[in-house]
Amino acid sequence: MDPHLRDTYEDVLRRNPGELEFHQAVREVLGSLGPVVARHPEYTDAGVITRLCEPERQIVFRVPWVDDAGRVQINRGFRVEFSSTLGPFKGGLRFHPSVLAGTVKFLGFEQIFKNALTGMPIGGGKGGSDFDPKGRSEAEVMRFCQSFMTELYRHLGEHTDVPAGDIGVGTREIGFLFGQYKRITNRYESGVLTGKGVTWGGSQVRPEATGYGLVYFAEQMLAHRGTDFDGRRVVVSGSGNVAINAIEKVHQLGGTVVACSDSQGYVVDEAGIDLEVLRQVKERDRARLSAYADVRDATHVTTGSVWDVACDIALPCATQNELDETHARTLVGNGCVLVAEGANMPTTPEAVQVLADAKVAFGPGKAANAGGVATSALEMQQNASRDSWTFEHTEARLGEIMRGIHERCLTTADAYGLPDDYVAGANIGGFIQVADAMLALGVI
Ligand code: NAP
Repeated sequence: MDPHLRDTYEDVLRRNPGELEFHQAVREVLGSLGPVVARHPEYTDAGVITRLCEPERQIVFRVPWVDDAGRVQINRGFRVEFSSTLGPFKGGLRFHPSVLAGTVKFLGFEQIFKNALTGMPIGGGKGGSDFDPKGRSEAEVMRFCQSFMTELYRHLGEHTDVPAGDIGVGTREIGFLFGQYKRITNRYESGVLTGKGVTWGGSQVRPEATGYGLVYFAEQMLAHRGTDFDGRRVVVSGSGNVAINAIEKVHQLGGTVVACSDSQGYVVDEAGIDLEVLRQVKERDRARLSAYADVRDATHVTTGSVWDVACDIALPCATQNELDETHARTLVGNGCVLVAEGANMPTTPEAVQVLADAKVAFGPGKAANAGGVATSALEMQQNASRDSWTFEHTEARLGEIMRGIHERCLTTADAYGLPDDYVAGANIGGFIQVADAMLALGVI
């Protein structure tokens, strides 16, 4: 690492003790920026990288609520407003018991570069809570969301900070959050949250956007190698929003997804995952994935990992650090040719190295899963003009954006003498976009 970048990284370690995922995310980006600071000393002179590693604002708050048994429950809420250089802070809310300050910080940091790569006017942020919606009644989820928004609303606004969904936060939760925001502020400010239902200000294709966008990105990576999805055997991890919509798009493009997972195991369905059954189990019944194997001629496995299932293409769509070095070796051994990240930072640095050594094409989440936030920006655009676009028009825009991000990764990587390196292309491309704007805006 360049000595200035090394100093910045050591400062991050010192100032954010114990936040391992944040350290990992910073190291991953700084690891790509050596050639950039060598060519552009002005970024170092203006302290751009040091500034980017420190959030503009961090909000931590108590979320008190009462469960169905009348007991008081306390959770912790977070919003990390990382960078508003390119537009209002933008990034999802995650409700999962594993959420800590460092989790939100790593996600917010990544979001700056992802959002910049889309070329759209959005800054980077992220939020969430250690609240676990699993096993909670709808009324409990509503009371929690209302309490969460009762504190967070004062920090939000369509020109200030615009959250969306992430793990554990879908249209239902966005509805409860939006309802409370509207009630407190007495304003129908559609653009304050994205991922809304289409009948109350949401955009067509937003629910599908991350998964569809991921597959569009992977399709471009395959095309760059002179091939496509047709007849390909694909494994997807997770079975939530991103995974389900990725599976749908892979099937539309002629591939077959033979396995997917949740936190309790994975299913293998050699005939191809049946989306209708999967949606019934995970979206409507909110049940465990094991229920899928009760209906289909499929195997539910609770040992090992979904990455043990042989495939040509692997799409990690569950959570961070879910694909490690051992999994990467298994994928390589099974002849996998492409890995593209639907989740944020699902592949460990060691696994990325194994894939690179084996010349497996690797699409990092910052680029490959940017379709969700890009479509959120399209939702903001529709809200601002009080318009709503058709599914076809919105999907066509998503496709264009993903092709643009792919192109930008490749041309940036080429410009820095690192052909076909999507990690370098995404990190450098996103960084330069935000860094140039920071130079223009002065030291703020
Ligand atoms: P989701 O709908 O809540 O689904 C998450 C899926 O991942 C579920 O199948 C869940 O299994 C599994 N999972 C979660 N935590 C896990 C863990 N610790 N170990 C194993 N499996 C785990 O969330 P999502 O929106 O699809 O998000 C998935 C990933 O995509 C996240 O990394 C998120 O940051 C990223 N992402 C999402 C969007 C978006 O638009 N939603 C955009 C960009 C990136 P269980 O049901 O068993 O918990």
